Amino acid sequence: MGNTSVSDSAPRPSQKPPPGMVIGPDGKPCKICTAFRNWKPKASTASMATLATATDFHSDRGPDSRLAHCPPDVEQLGRATWTFLHTTAAYYPDHPTSRQRANMLNLLHSLPVLYPCSHCASHLGETLKINPPDVSGRVVLSHWLCERHNEVNERLGKDKFDCAKTDERWKDGPPDSSCD
Ligand SMILES: Cc1cc2nc3c(=O)[nH]c(=O)nc-3n(C[C@H](O)[C@H](O)[C@H](O)COP(=O)(O)OP(=O)(O)OC[C@H]3O[C@@H](n4cnc5c(N)ncnc54)[C@H](O)[C@@H]3O)c2cc1C
Repeated sequence: MGNTSVSDSAPRPSQKPPPGMVIGPDGKPCKICTAFRNWKPKASTASMATLATATDFHSDRGPDSRLAHCPPDVEQLGRATWTFLHTTAAYYPDHPTSRQRANMLNLLHSLPVLYPCSHCASHLGETLKINPPDVSGRVVLSHWLCERHNEVNERLGKDKFDCAKTDERWKDGPPDSSCD
């Protein structure tokens, strides 16, 4: 996988990386594999401290305190990718044509090759081998994807998502109509 430009503030290869900083396959700190708070902990803390004030005056601040025009970190990229994948699965046909099935398979199998976070990509490649995607219809595909996302959640120590609520989260919205 190609990775990362390394900023001047990143440690040189001989230095021990700070906690949470991910080293890429080239042995260098991998910026797109690392959460911004671990890439530049001091800058991130300072930003968080001023976030309340900053958001009052700068509408271009994102929810993680970075300027909205900054490149994504591993978390922002992940959220955007999951949003795209779950939403695409939620609107996939119940009875896909063979062309739609083939294209969905291409999309999913391209991720381990192209996804910029290299360790995320290689985990996904392993899980695709063990659990081949079921592209035979919308419901099974959404469920399959939910399980793959839950594997990542588990690996990161996060709560599992209830896969019965996949349509509610990504297509229909909650029964209280708050998203209508
Ligand atoms: C293929 C892939 C592999 C990744 N691998 C890694 C990795 O190895 N290391 C790493 O640090 N980060 C990885 N990430 C990023 C990570 O999964 C998160 O996106 C990131 O940590 C931000 O997490 P979050 O808590 O904001 O919510 P996310 O996990 O991004 O989830 C976004 C929203 O999806 C919903 N959701 C959560 N779980 C499910 C589910 N199972 N099914 C349906 N909806 C759900 C929730 O409403 C949640 O708010 C990966 C991302 C992708 C797309």
